[in-house]
Amino acid sequence: NKTKLSSMAKIPKVHWEDVGGLSHVRSEIMEAIELPLQHPNLFPPSTRSGILLYGPPGTGKTLVAKAVATECKLPFLSVKGPELLGSYIGESEGNVREVFAQARTCARQNKPPACILFFDELDSLAPRRGEQASGGNVMDRVVATFFGELDKDAKDCSIFVMGATNRPDLLDPSLLRPGRFDRLVYLGIFPEDRAQILAAQIRKLNLKDEPHVLAKFVVDKLPNNLTGADLSTIATGAQLLATERLCAEAENEFQMQQANGNSELTMDQLLESW
Ligand code: ATP
Repeated sequence: NKTKLSSMAKIPKVHWEDVGGLSHVRSEIMEAIELPLQHPNLFPPSTRSGILLYGPPGTGKTLVAKAVATECKLPFLSVKGPELLGSYIGESEGNVREVFAQARTCARQNKPPACILFFDELDSLAPRRGEQASGGNVMDRVVATFFGELDKDAKDCSIFVMGATNRPDLLDPSLLRPGRFDRLVYLGIFPEDRAQILAAQIRKLNLKDEPHVLAKFVVDKLPNNLTGADLSTIATGAQLLATERLCAEAENEFQMQQANGNSELTMDQLLESW
């Protein structure tokens, strides 16, 4: 957490076409960010809301947050909640303040002066107060500092705050007050999205076949409780398997050509020609 976040903040390269399905999520989030960006005078910072993405692991929360930043051309600062928690007195609060300060610096350097500040594992940074048996007060102070920073209005820049959690039940309820994280967006396992998610994965593999056709063909053979991350693992696993098979076949062919004395091509050239 000593790293300068603002110097690492870049506009990501995740476009909406890399995100399969989740169209309801897309429109809700874009509305919350695009409109204030286009009409800052109609949406002063005090009227803006943070967006909380919640749902099981691997359902695309981080991916979606990056896609929003890419599509809105905003630098993306990402922090994992636990990374900010230090062991010295006041260290965690200092880290929280530092992250917001860096986000403001980063926003001011951008045109328009705005950025996205994304908190992953938000539950570890804003757990329900007054419940920790030991060290409770310490954590309560961190939560209070976090809320204080969320409530601050910077006049000359906009920080769009997004958060993600698998455990919304652990969050302090006042995190969800208007002006903090008052837009809640659920990302879950939507069986009807599987083909589109798989197609988004297949597109990245640059195959000759049309991704949607391939995805439709495969998806009926898969269980319907798979997350986006599971589908991604299947797509890359299939690519690896296909490559291994291709190499094995090329190796066979190469051996045969050598045995027959007509091996004009090297193994690499043979693979290339396939
Ligand atoms: P965690 O809660 O564990 O942090 P997460 O919800 O943030 O998980 P991501 O890290 O966004 O999940 O997703 C993991 C990977 O799964 C992504 O990098 C992507 O490859 C794939 N994935 C998930 N959802 C989708 C989707 N809707 N479309 C395409 N790929 C997806």
